[in-house]
Amino acid sequence: MKRLAFCYHPDYLLHTPPFEHPESPERLVAITDHLKSTGLEGKMIPVEVDYPDDAEILSVHAREYLNKVEQACRRGDMTLDMEDTYLNRHSYNIALLSAGGAIAGAKAVAEGAADRAFCAIRPPGHHAGRDVGMGFCLLNNVAVAARYLQARHGIGKVLIVDWDVHHGNGTQNIFLEDPSVFFFSIHEHPTFLYPGTGRRWEVGKGAGEGTTLNAPMAPGAGDDEYRAMFEQQLEPAVERFRPEIILVSAGFDAHRDDPLADIQLSDEGFRFMTRHVVELANAYCGGKVVSLLEGGYEISSLTSCIEIHVRELLEE
Ligand SMILES: [Zn+2]
Repeated sequence: MKRLAFCYHPDYLLHTPPFEHPESPERLVAITDHLKSTGLEGKMIPVEVDYPDDAEILSVHAREYLNKVEQACRRGDMTLDMEDTYLNRHSYNIALLSAGGAIAGAKAVAEGAADRAFCAIRPPGHHAGRDVGMGFCLLNNVAVAARYLQARHGIGKVLIVDWDVHHGNGTQNIFLEDPSVFFFSIHEHPTFLYPGTGRRWEVGKGAGEGTTLNAPMAPGAGDDEYRAMFEQQLEPAVERFRPEIILVSAGFDAHRDDPLADIQLSDEGFRFMTRHVVELANAYCGGKVVSLLEGGYEISSLTSCIEIHVRELLEE
């Protein structure tokens, strides 16, 4: 069995919506309850989550943007830029702590305290860009973790696998011109779903051309189509890129029961994707995987898929 770090902080529950909203603290309550009741919590290594330092956040986000979010929370704004990303007075701090959870997982794996990590964090991050928050995301957790690994642990090449049903536009933009971070996103086709980006021809820019790979999927696609994409597109790309660690933007909203999209993955689809990432990590980077929670809004499928995800991360 692999040593799997578990990164969580009870303060993640303090980021609460001021109105009915799918990205709620109940998601994490259900996940942690389920990991306890299945005995899986006891099989993981609990890792303390701290606030990141300034340099860690500034490696991804602009100071002016951080000030803007902090001030909006202090003022009592209910949303960022009047859009779908809600705020309360804790939200800025909890977004920092969410990024801190991603760093804690990355640190545990980089330092060898664990082989892999699962970070049950919120708010999610993959829509947040350098100076913009959107799509329920304030800070880009996976990007902060990637930059942390490069800056503090001498890691060169990072692969990010984003299987949230929405395109990880924030992550893509942050690393668009960076050949050291390979970004793979599989998502519902942008014609039919937020945020409207992630088309096949978005492949990176400048020095980063070729290290962005988008796999847009038609509504109704499911396990077979995802499996083909992983085997035929991701696998050869990873073989060429040779990552030193794999980060996963693990959203669970591509499940057939999730109300936010029209992809039809079953629980087995999530088992396959996790297994595939683990096998790629075993082949190319000593098995190192750090998985971060992104979306996933239907509680029953969210918890069952995370159980499967964690079980697979624990396997050799
Ligand atoms: Zn999503």
